[in-house]
Amino acid sequence: MIIETHVHLCDEKYDHDRDEVLKRANASGVMKFLNIGAELKEVRKIAAMEIENVYKAMGLHPHNAAELTDGVYDEIKGYFKAQKKAVAVGEIGLDYYKNPVPKALQEKVFRAFLGLAKELDLPVAIHSREAHDDVYNIIREYVLNKRGVIHCFSGDAGIAGKFTDLGYMLGIGGVITFPNAETLRNAVASVPLECLVLETDAPWLAPQQERGKRNEPSYLRHIAQAVARLKNVSVEQIESVTTKNAEKLFNI
Ligand SMILES: [Zn+2]
Repeated sequence: MIIETHVHLCDEKYDHDRDEVLKRANASGVMKFLNIGAELKEVRKIAAMEIENVYKAMGLHPHNAAELTDGVYDEIKGYFKAQKKAVAVGEIGLDYYKNPVPKALQEKVFRAFLGLAKELDLPVAIHSREAHDDVYNIIREYVLNKRGVIHCFSGDAGIAGKFTDLGYMLGIGGVITFPNAETLRNAVASVPLECLVLETDAPWLAPQQERGKRNEPSYLRHIAQAVARLKNVSVEQIESVTTKNAEKLFNI
């Protein structure tokens, strides 16, 4: 069994065949899903969607930080209180790559949601793009019991070690299969398997074998195989350890 720890199942790209996507995932061994809300519209869909074995994470991605008002914060907090399957705060974080949202606003919103995670005693799903040092310094200030995951981790071995020393997991996605991702592969090779969870970030970032297509959770198999090759262990072992890691992190 594999757990998909980061998928945007409410994306409209799945509106015509969401059931088929989930069936294909199940057929390939992907049995639990963390459905991620990164903007208010998506969070509302997630709050309203009940599917067996689909768990929920809700937050505002740094691209959507300007959506946060007091009212929106209260609304999202309300969904957490009302939903048993809401198991993580995210996706939240910092993105300095071509992001028009000012850094100060991104940081304010990131901190607001870290505070919410602390209050709710939930882990976080963090987006960090070209912002690893600032993300690291900020999450160090919020000692969350459950910590969280640096989703679609894209850094080098140095920052991988810093995040995992802090107790954070690294979410490994399709980028690990890209020919030019040698730095990431070295980073993943350098951290213990107990620090890794698997994700697609679908519908984006299809692995190399499916490049150019809409991504979907059944493609997690390619990612598990890539990690197995890197770690020189069986795919079954990768599945078993990363599943345990995700079950423990998200309490699912
Ligand atoms: Zn995402």
